[in-house]
Amino acid sequence: MKVYNVAIDGPAGAGKSTVAKMAAERLSFVYVDTGSMYRALALAFMRLGIKPGEMSRIEDALYGIDVTLSYRGGEQMVLLNGEDVTSLLRSQQVGDLASAFAPLAPVRAKLLLLQRELAGRTSVIMDGRDIGTTVLPHADLKIYLTADAKVRAERRYKELLERGSECDKEEILNGILTRDKQDMTREISPLRQAKDAVYLDASHMTVDEVVCFIVNLAKERFWP
Ligand code: C5P
Repeated sequence: MKVYNVAIDGPAGAGKSTVAKMAAERLSFVYVDTGSMYRALALAFMRLGIKPGEMSRIEDALYGIDVTLSYRGGEQMVLLNGEDVTSLLRSQQVGDLASAFAPLAPVRAKLLLLQRELAGRTSVIMDGRDIGTTVLPHADLKIYLTADAKVRAERRYKELLERGSECDKEEILNGILTRDKQDMTREISPLRQAKDAVYLDASHMTVDEVVCFIVNLAKERFWP
């Protein structure tokens, strides 16, 4: 059976995970959240007390770290050396650390293999920063999903309020801008739009509109 690969890249808070997950469900594809893999590695380094500058410790530690994705009832679970760490990965601290470790070549090399292997096996919607440019350069459909930084910060702010967390809008916006800069200016696999990616600015679109746009595009392309 033909395997289809959809790549969705874009900056933090653009809504990639939400729409990728919903679109994957509608297309009966597997959703692969590559950010969670970087987050799992960051958590592992954090637990070992390793900082982003400690290259030889990072290289040594990588041999002993195993990140696996597993699926239960359609939900992606992230296993770190067999332990389900899914619920520990979404904090801002882990996200910022993931972004700090993500520029490092051995970190990227380790996850690249795993990501390609997953996409070769089954039809996937994979989201991240370098999927269309590096991980799956021959993906059947590529989307670059973005939104105005202020809109992304506002969404994040509402999300945190709903969860009952105290937060400051200005701080969230600054965090988003710092992460954008870090992800877009690193040397290896920086975040950028692949030449053949469809650009989608979701600043004024609802989640449902974005999902429908992607699903329709995929259907037109894969099953005309
Ligand atoms: O998407 P998410 O916020 O979970 O990603 C966390 C961090 O992991 C990003 O800010 C980025 O630095 C890194 N990342 C990456 N390449 C990917 C996915 C995530 O560098 N494909």
